[in-house]
Amino acid sequence: MIFVVTGPSGGGKSTLIRRVRDSLPGLAFSVSYTTRAARPSETPGLDYHFVTLRTFERMAGAGKFVEWAEVHGHLYGTSKAELERKGARGDVILDIDVQGARQVRALLPGAVQVFVMPPRYGELRRRLMARGEDDAAAVERRLRDAREETAAFAEFDYVVVNGDLDRAAGELGAVITASRCRPRVRAGEIARILASFRRPGRAGTSRRSRP
Ligand code: 5GP
Repeated sequence: MIFVVTGPSGGGKSTLIRRVRDSLPGLAFSVSYTTRAARPSETPGLDYHFVTLRTFERMAGAGKFVEWAEVHGHLYGTSKAELERKGARGDVILDIDVQGARQVRALLPGAVQVFVMPPRYGELRRRLMARGEDDAAAVERRLRDAREETAAFAEFDYVVVNGDLDRAAGELGAVITASRCRPRVRAGEIARILASFRRPGRAGTSRRSRP
């Protein structure tokens, strides 16, 4: 399955994703491509694939992205190859903006889309400033974009309000666990169980007690 986690920058998407990946197995992270410069805290290839504008545009032109968008003045995109490779091994989780989430929804309607909402505007501002990873102009731009992004919350399958991190991580984990219990997702496992009902007499399947 594909899980899309979206919402305004500074809302805590990456922290939440890290938390649920630590607690739930089989959840790979889709590493995006971006033209933004790496922050000191980031590892190329783990947080993002950092590329030049030229490389990004070449990839976009060659149809290498499932979705891509300009976000806060930089380009970001999800690679088809990465999604296919990681998706072949299990579930994949994407951390993308609202524009990207809309593109994924149009292309992959089965993807589960979760919106991460900050508890209030002032808290979002505080987090973006405290992070200290963007200059004042970049913070202002992210806050401006956040007004539009938060207004889109109702488009999504689920909303997690990230005021208390433990609670929000629990909610995101619950969404993922519940989605994994959908009948069509469990079809393979259920087929094996049903097959066991068609093989009477095997150990553990017989209702007749031994003499
Ligand atoms: P940041 O620069 O803070 O890492 O990310 C800025 C915004 O870009 C975040 O909202 C993040 O979710 C979004 N983003 C990251 N990767 C992608 C991507 O591949 N596609 C799209 N559309 N947005 C992305």
